[in-house]
Amino acid sequence: MIYFDVTIIGGGAAGIFAAAVLAEKAPHLKVIVLEKANRPLAKVRVSGGGRCNLTHRCSSITDFVKNYPRGGRELIGAFHRFGPAETIAWFEHHGVPLTMLENGCYFPQSDSSADVIRALLQCGMNVRTDSEVAGIHKTEAGFCVQLVSGEQFSCKKLLIATGGGAFVHGIGHTVESCVPSLFTFSTADQEFTSLAGNVIDNVRVSALGCKAEGALLITHCGISGPVVLQASSFGARRFAENRYVFEMKINWKAAMNTEQVFQVLEQFKVSSPKKRTGTWSPIGLPSKLWLLIVKRSGVNEACEWGSCARKMLRQIAAQVTDFSLAITGKNTHREEFVTCGGIRLKEVDCKTMQSRLMPGLYFAGEVLDIDGLTGGFNLQAAWTTGYLAAQSISSVNLDEAACAAPCKPNHPTPSRRIGTQNPSSRLSDCVAPADYR
Ligand SMILES: Cc1cc2nc3c(=O)[nH]c(=O)nc-3n(C[C@H](O)[C@H](O)[C@H](O)COP(=O)(O)OP(=O)(O)OC[C@H]3O[C@@H](n4cnc5c(N)ncnc54)[C@H](O)[C@@H]3O)c2cc1C
Repeated sequence: MIYFDVTIIGGGAAGIFAAAVLAEKAPHLKVIVLEKANRPLAKVRVSGGGRCNLTHRCSSITDFVKNYPRGGRELIGAFHRFGPAETIAWFEHHGVPLTMLENGCYFPQSDSSADVIRALLQCGMNVRTDSEVAGIHKTEAGFCVQLVSGEQFSCKKLLIATGGGAFVHGIGHTVESCVPSLFTFSTADQEFTSLAGNVIDNVRVSALGCKAEGALLITHCGISGPVVLQASSFGARRFAENRYVFEMKINWKAAMNTEQVFQVLEQFKVSSPKKRTGTWSPIGLPSKLWLLIVKRSGVNEACEWGSCARKMLRQIAAQVTDFSLAITGKNTHREEFVTCGGIRLKEVDCKTMQSRLMPGLYFAGEVLDIDGLTGGFNLQAAWTTGYLAAQSISSVNLDEAACAAPCKPNHPTPSRRIGTQNPSSRLSDCVAPADYR
């Protein structure tokens, strides 16, 4: 049994950020990060297509949390303590100048996630890789953590930052059912997917009571784009309950209702009576999509506008604002994929990220029932919750805890402090910042 003051399970964004903050705020504490993969921060490395969209513009926390379909309300206080502004300051202070794009997304100026990873690991921390945790249990003095290999660690404070994982189901906390969020939809409607490549701005989609607005991309197998990712996030649970088979309604002109479209068509009938209905869109939609809309309205595409009865105009207008698409499944978005669900937030004090059920146990990151839209919101939640957990742990006097721990270290430290010259008994398990250059 090896003793650490603090054990962090999971070397992702949340766990490593917590370790970095602890290394700076409480360097006297013995902290270890146990990571099952052979390197920490795998998702951060690939995030934002390798550029790492690490947070988002925030003019008010109240508006910022609207980007979290789950956990937004609970994060209000947390973001006031450590939000986007503090994140930007932290990374810039640690040598990662950032740049904000027009859409509000923040990236490293270098456009490389490697710089974010280097800044985090350079804070100096013990990360033990290839160390999958099989289970944890409460002891009198704290916790006992058991690896799949059979090795055991004891600690006073335990931070779970595994992004998910089977063993969180056995620790006495309620786990909200986990389903994917941020994905795209597929359809078997080949006439529709033959329009692949068309991007339509300002579309409204609605399905199973969930609505979203934004740009939509028609793909070779279905629909994608910001509006679809947003809908998949807000409706994650309902779509999963329906096994991703349902009818989606699309308003191709989100700014207009059926009556307004009808009026535009009536004016067009007067101004261009000789034009054919299927050849040109009076409301600025791509021509092939317009042709499909006219066909599905039941109006002959060769019919001249001048000979269209008002009823026919209404049929076309209805297709524009209430287009039906049969969704037959989901695809994973190529760049971003998060889990909806996790540890129930009511059971966690969101000021400190400490369990309300088990003192000394903390949670951070995606293992919690928190998930955001695309744009840097998910990493922001990981930084925030990781920071608050570390802040809370660092403010507790653990000296007494160390004395009270039943198991004292009886092995050499199994990993070394990254960024220092300390030798280690398991150097091969450790990751040096140089690996990320
Ligand atoms: C391809 C992709 C691109 C993304 N791009 C962005 C982006 O640009 N911006 C953004 O905001 N979000 C992005 N996200 C989402 C974001 O990366 C995650 O929300 C964030 O990384 C979650 O951090 P985390 O530390 O909670 O979990 P994770 O990053 O999942 O880290 C958890 C860690 O715990 C380890 N672990 C799990 N179980 C165990 C165990 N039993 N024992 C030991 N270790 C264990 C895992 O190996 C992992 O390293 C992206 C996600 C993906 C998949």
